[in-house]
Amino acid sequence: MKTVNESECLFCRIRDGEIPAEIIYREDGVLAFRDIDPQAPVHVLIIPEKHIDSLSRTENADVDLLGRICRAAALLARRESIEQSGYRLVVNSGPDAGQAVDHLHFHLLGGRALGWPPG
Ligand code: 5GP
Ligand code: ZN
Repeated sequence: MKTVNESECLFCRIRDGEIPAEIIYREDGVLAFRDIDPQAPVHVLIIPEKHIDSLSRTENADVDLLGRICRAAALLARRESIEQSGYRLVVNSGPDAGQAVDHLHFHLLGGRALGWPPG
């Protein structure tokens, strides 16, 4: 598994303000911004501010951070008015899942009925 250099990482550059994004949350090492190519009326990406390549690269020391990301997802679902209608939190890890950006990110999707299983 390759390791990505932060200066070449798209989401690290968004974190650092080098690439524009619609940032809607930044707290306790967690950042959220709208996906550039939304797959649902609400499509938010939630990331750790520190660079981690993928879920597979997380360590026990990241458990609190992962918990904060999940709590941020629940908060944002409420703010985005999809708490009642429902939503999905997705992590793509590795090639078969189609992970395109090698900085851990959680997709928060909602605002329409979401099919299952994913294609
Ligand atoms: P993955 O396929 O790695 O799970 O998801 C990567 C996501 O990043 C995709 O949904 C894609 O639309 C989004 N994305 C790619 N480039 C950019 C960008 O420059 N800005 C934003 N806001 N999202 C991006
Ligand atoms: Zn990064």
